[in-house]
Amino acid sequence: MVKLEKIKEERKKNKLQFLLKDSDEVFANTIRRMILEEVPTLAVEDLEFKDNSSALFDEMLGLRLGLTPIKTDLKSYVLKEKCKCAGAGCAQCELKITLKAGKKGYVYAEEAESEDPKCTFAHPKMPLVKLLSRQRVDVVLTAVVGQGKAHAKWMPGWAYYKKEPIVAVDKVKDPEKVAENCSDGVFVLEGKRLKVDQEKIYDSNLLEYYAELDKGISLEYSDNLVFTVESWGQLSCKEMLNTSADILLEKIEELEKQL
Ligand SMILES: [Zn+2]
Repeated sequence: MVKLEKIKEERKKNKLQFLLKDSDEVFANTIRRMILEEVPTLAVEDLEFKDNSSALFDEMLGLRLGLTPIKTDLKSYVLKEKCKCAGAGCAQCELKITLKAGKKGYVYAEEAESEDPKCTFAHPKMPLVKLLSRQRVDVVLTAVVGQGKAHAKWMPGWAYYKKEPIVAVDKVKDPEKVAENCSDGVFVLEGKRLKVDQEKIYDSNLLEYYAELDKGISLEYSDNLVFTVESWGQLSCKEMLNTSADILLEKIEELEKQL
């Protein structure tokens, strides 16, 4: 049976890390690919410019707005091809957002007005464009539900995994040298002894280097996987994982039906 053990959740950073036990890389990679390619989100797909005298060309501003994450309520929105409007576009697969600004300075994401208050740009203080005096933008955006496999703008975030590293400290020749060369906080010097900060190990990319630096430091890998999910703001990390599992189940049921 697959077992999950939560290592840490950083809500502010939209990051979730857990240990996957009694599983394998095939399973972890399947979940990873479901998250990157299949879990749907809202992203700007069409723009109607009424005015744009900013320094950014329409195309550049369009590209930028396309990559600006929108909070996505998956209970209210579905993929166009699965929508009952059959792809024509309706309130269940499309969302209109208006961006109107004419004040000198930065225009922030919070200034855009979404017709659905639950689904606004995810990061209010994200700068979208800078205006000089007498410059204006007035544009109506249409966001649609899509998937990362069609375009990266619909990817809900990032997911990756690695084998669980196990670091042990034995008789270290020169603890001070190790501490000096440790730039990510994995080792802390306590008096003359070297201590390992377990929390930092999973995020370190320098473990092999430390093991080479001193023979007293050993590095091994267990069969467990450290799985990390980072959200770009459209969905929470948990929603990303739950939806990826739902999609996997849907695919298996579809297969079963056809057998
Ligand atoms: Zn629709």
